[in-house]
Amino acid sequence: MIRDNAVDFMDEQVDLAPASAEPWRVLVVDDEADVHEATQLALRDLVIEGRPLAFLHACSAHEAYEILARDHEVAVILLDVVMESEDAGLWLAKRIRDDLGQKAIRIILRTGQPGYAPEIDTIRAYDINDYKTKSELTRVRLFTSLTVAIRSYWQIRRLEMSRRGLDLIVAASTGLGKLRALQAFAEGVVTQLCVLLNIAPEGLICAFSCPRTDEAPRVIAAAGRYRALIHRPLHELPDAEARGALQRCLSRKQHAFARGACLYFDVNETSGIAAYVNLARELDPVDRDLIEVFCANMSVGFENVLLHDRLFDFAYHDQLLHLPNRNRFIQLIDEKRADPRMTLALVDLDDFAEMNTVLDHRFGDQVLHAVATRLAQSFGPPVILARVSGDIFGLLGPPDKINPRGIGQAFFDPFSVQGEAIRVSATSSLIRLNRDSPATGGELLKDASIALKQAKLLNRGRAEYFSADLSLTARERIHMLTNLRAAFSAERLFLAFQPQIELASGKVVGAEALLRWKTEDGQFVPPDRFIPLAEQSGLIVHIGEWVLRTACHRLKRLNRLGYADFRMAINISHVQFREPDFVALLGRVLSDCQIRAEQVELELTESVAMGHLDSVIAKLAEIRRMGVSIALDDFGTGYSSLSVLKQLDVDRLKIDRAFVREIGQSGDASGIATLVVALGRQLNLGTIAEGVETEEQRTCLQALGCREGQGYLFASPLPAAQLEAWLATH
Ligand code: C2E
Ligand code: MG
Ligand code: MG
Repeated sequence: MIRDNAVDFMDEQVDLAPASAEPWRVLVVDDEADVHEATQLALRDLVIEGRPLAFLHACSAHEAYEILARDHEVAVILLDVVMESEDAGLWLAKRIRDDLGQKAIRIILRTGQPGYAPEIDTIRAYDINDYKTKSELTRVRLFTSLTVAIRSYWQIRRLEMSRRGLDLIVAASTGLGKLRALQAFAEGVVTQLCVLLNIAPEGLICAFSCPRTDEAPRVIAAAGRYRALIHRPLHELPDAEARGALQRCLSRKQHAFARGACLYFDVNETSGIAAYVNLARELDPVDRDLIEVFCANMSVGFENVLLHDRLFDFAYHDQLLHLPNRNRFIQLIDEKRADPRMTLALVDLDDFAEMNTVLDHRFGDQVLHAVATRLAQSFGPPVILARVSGDIFGLLGPPDKINPRGIGQAFFDPFSVQGEAIRVSATSSLIRLNRDSPATGGELLKDASIALKQAKLLNRGRAEYFSADLSLTARERIHMLTNLRAAFSAERLFLAFQPQIELASGKVVGAEALLRWKTEDGQFVPPDRFIPLAEQSGLIVHIGEWVLRTACHRLKRLNRLGYADFRMAINISHVQFREPDFVALLGRVLSDCQIRAEQVELELTESVAMGHLDSVIAKLAEIRRMGVSIALDDFGTGYSSLSVLKQLDVDRLKIDRAFVREIGQSGDASGIATLVVALGRQLNLGTIAEGVETEEQRTCLQALGCREGQGYLFASPLPAAQLEAWLATH
């Protein structure tokens, strides 16, 4: 920006390119005062290329130098040669080019005497435009010379300007490519526009419209006093002129060059961007061309950025509810994790799947919308709301907001869906984040999901806290369950058989089928660990059926091998026993395998007595009527009352190995084993001891009246093939 000088009589606002009405600045340098007057008089009313002339005056080369050092917009200098020295004019010409670096200014040398003409070399070296003796300079001649000079000055200036502009565009394009978000990019464009137009970043607004999303055009970048408007809808813009210009520009999809230039960036078929610049002057054609090239360039950049934004949107936002999705939620947890005053909650809608299938998906979507809206209302910022998966919402926020009561309240009132009031219940798991928790956002979310699964099982419709520890073991269990499922379908489960012996004779009466799980890396997982899991998940029903069939097939084979009276003891979980069609299944398996019911014994624990005793009794009776016998496993460890025991119509009591172990330790036979054997005798039930490891235990049990035994003393549980080999030698 040029500042005024002593003889400047023009408006001080001069920009890179002079506005069309601005005069050409002509500097007259002469030590004779009347030359100044004569020149000004001769050229007074001249208009060149539609612009008048404005004169600046200097009486010496030095004075002229000072003016030119400050004023970079002088187009032509009419320069006397002989002034304070004989070649003062030539000295100045050299300074203008070499020191001031002003290449565009045109120099017309004037001299009183022809003998003072400079050498051709000098004229060439200092790019002197013209040389005239003062006597030659009539009004017409002067006008011709000046016109030529001004035209060539303006041509040089245009070249200079467009080079500078293009440099800026290149810098802007490469520099901006690195900025990602739309807003950042728009800000970059806005800044570069200011540079291009040589104005302060004031009064600049960039608005984005995307009819595809139905959104009203909004401000994406702004500078100076408009900064506060970023993100606000365009129609809220208080400046009517700027607002009108932007709206027109966006709807007509073209630039509008008025006092405030409004530029249109044609991004793609659906979105456009307009930038308003408060110029307070008209843009000349060069500027317009320059700006149009710039806009075309930036449009490509905008398109890339928008594409990136949309990809980002798809990756991190739920498209149905316009909430952060699981990925984004994990990032947000990571960002907030260090804050100990945060609680993470997962909210799962109960029976949503049914709602979705019984009614239709549109209805389901609307329920989700209603719940999302309610949650957003109940938990405003700073709480973060996300859609973690189908019907599971994530909440992250301060504990005074995210707590069971708060969540419960959010679901208290019915939701309005398709004009109907719908009650929605939800199950939630809450985890308090703490600073020591090493988990990442992803792990924390997984913990919360596991906790949620447990809550769904145990506390449906409620919201409960889970400690990180609890969910940690829960995580291991889920992991194991997943593996068990895989092992079962990959047929990596098998049965081992442990012989059961008649203590008095040492005769083999049968074997107990025991489930084995060998993991892929060759490790055995004890059934005590995985069976409870299989029970909790319901997987035991399928596994149990497989055990039943496999054991019966094995029995059939043993029959064929000649072990006709062999008894197969099969463990049945209470979960499996409780299945309504358990008895039917048992019957099917027996007939499928063509084995006698009398050869099968089911080992049940006292836990079957939990629940409806009447139906348990009925079921047991039914099973026994089929001919299948029943042993009460682990007897003595449960808590069934004697009255319950009396009602449970079974064949045998199986003394738990813990009581058998006592026999060896205490050295006498006065422990629980004694009581169990006595009870069995009174109830007229058979007894079998498990876990018999020593001869002493065997003798003692036999002395007590225990009829049968099973344990390492006789044989370990054996894989099927080894059992056959073992039987052959016993
Ligand atoms: P259980 O039915 O009481 O099985 C007896 C357990 O004692 C077996 O453990 C067996 O390997 C072990 N054992 C046998 N002899 C000795 C001995 O001399 N000393 C000692 N200390 N232990 C001995 P295992 O195979 O680990 O099975 C544990 C439990 O897993 C079983 O207890 C049973 O409750 C359950 N289980 C095993 N297989 C099945 C199955 O197919 N279905 C169901 N529902 N449960 C099963
Ligand atoms: Mg057993
Ligand atoms: Mg047992």
